[in-house]
Order: sequence, then C-alpha cells, then structure tokens
Amino acid sequence: MSPAPSSQGKPSSPVKIARRGLMLVLSSPSGAGKSTIARNLLDADRSLEISISVTTRAKRPSEIADKHYHFITVQQFEKMRDAGDLLEWAEVHGNFYGTPREPVELAMSEGRDMLFDIDWQGARQLQEKMAADVVSIFVLPPTMTELQSRLHRRAEDSEEVIRTRLLNSRAEIEHWREYDYVIVNDDLDEAFGHVSCIVNAERIRRDRRHGLFDFVSELLTEEPKL
Ligand code: 5GP
Repeated sequence: MSPAPSSQGKPSSPVKIARRGLMLVLSSPSGAGKSTIARNLLDADRSLEISISVTTRAKRPSEIADKHYHFITVQQFEKMRDAGDLLEWAEVHGNFYGTPREPVELAMSEGRDMLFDIDWQGARQLQEKMAADVVSIFVLPPTMTELQSRLHRRAEDSEEVIRTRLLNSRAEIEHWREYDYVIVNDDLDEAFGHVSCIVNAERIRRDRRHGLFDFVSELLTEEPKL
C-alpha cells in the first residue's frame, strides 16, 4: 500500500509493494564456481537466505555442520524423505542430498527470497512443484580443462572423488536447456554481476508483486492538480 504523499508529492516513507518470495536455483557441475557465486550473493544481499540441504556425504574439513549442510545418516535421510519432509531430493555422486521443506514454505509465505545450490534433478523437481516462484540459473565453466583444475585447486576431495565428479560433470551440463538463464563463469566478478542483475529484475516482475494491484488503484485515486 502507498504511504501518504508529502507536500512535494513524494511519499513520506519508501513505497513498499508486497510480493511473493523468489526461489533462486543455482546449478552447475562441481568446480564451475557456483558456490563462490552463491557466497558472494549472500554477502552482498542480506535479504537473501540460503536453503541448507541435508546430505549423507562426509563433511569436508572446511565445512561447518548446520551452516553448509545438515550432515545426516542414510537412515535419517530415508526417514525424512519417506515422511515427506523433503521438498526435493536426489542422489548425486553416490550420496543423497535433499531440501528440507519447512524452512522453504515458511520463507515463501513470508515473502522472503531463498537461494538453492542444488543439482539438475532438484531443480527439475522444484520447477515442477513451484513453477511460479522458481528462477533457475545454470553456471558453465569456460572450458573443461579449467573445470578440472578448479576441482584440483580446491584440494578438499580425494583423487577418486574428483574423478567421479569430472565424469559426472558432462551429464550435468547436458541439462543446461532446462534453466531460465545460463551464464559462463569465465570471470567471477562478471558472472556475479549477471546473477545480481537477474535477481534484481526478477524481484520486480509484475506477476510476482501481488501488492501492485492495490498500489495502482490507490495511485489512481489521487486527483491531478490541474
Ligand atoms: P557437494 O557435495 O559438492 O557439496 O554437492 C554436490 C552436488 O549436489 C552439487 O551439484 C550441489 O549443488 C548438489 N546439491 C547440494 N544440495 C542439494 C540438495 O539439497 N538437493 C539436490 N538435488 N542437490 C543438491
């Protein structure tokens, strides 16, 4: 709803127009830089929250439990999945990953935006279930050689794990057409700039802002001073 205009015609407080929350899905093969882009986005934009997934994979040395993932056992995962507590789930590189349902539903109902760092299988499930709220971005590496060297530079996974991830990266890339936007992460600043522009534009889409109806109706009640 629009605040009362001041004598200069400017509203006395910023105009706020209610809208639904945005579900921003980022996918890429391991090593394409998606997690760095996600981290930069979260640092730059305090109104964006990350969805913390559950996983059965072992924790990496640099990871913090309940910040990067909720690390759980296969039994705990199956229990959550079978109880319908996961909005989507998938087996990726031999481990299970899933998005807890409750925090997402709460965020959406309160009009808050959420970021999802999930694979193509998860992206597809969210697109099927919540099409109107999902904006999906696929991040490509500039070359496959660069992807390989980024995986080695990270130095947190064994050679065996890196090999599996490299082999799987081709299959992940095959799904690029299923995304709304595709960006090439050649230069991190540029890739981050593209993602920020997408988020800003998607936030002001007409069909996302249900408050526009009231705003425009009220706007038109103001008589022009001729
Ligand atoms: P990593 O083990 O490197 O953290 O993640 C491996 C892959 O699993 C990444 O592509 C990541 O985006 C994906 N992933 C992480 N969490 C989820 C989730 O909750 N659901 C799905 N479908 N994929 C996930």
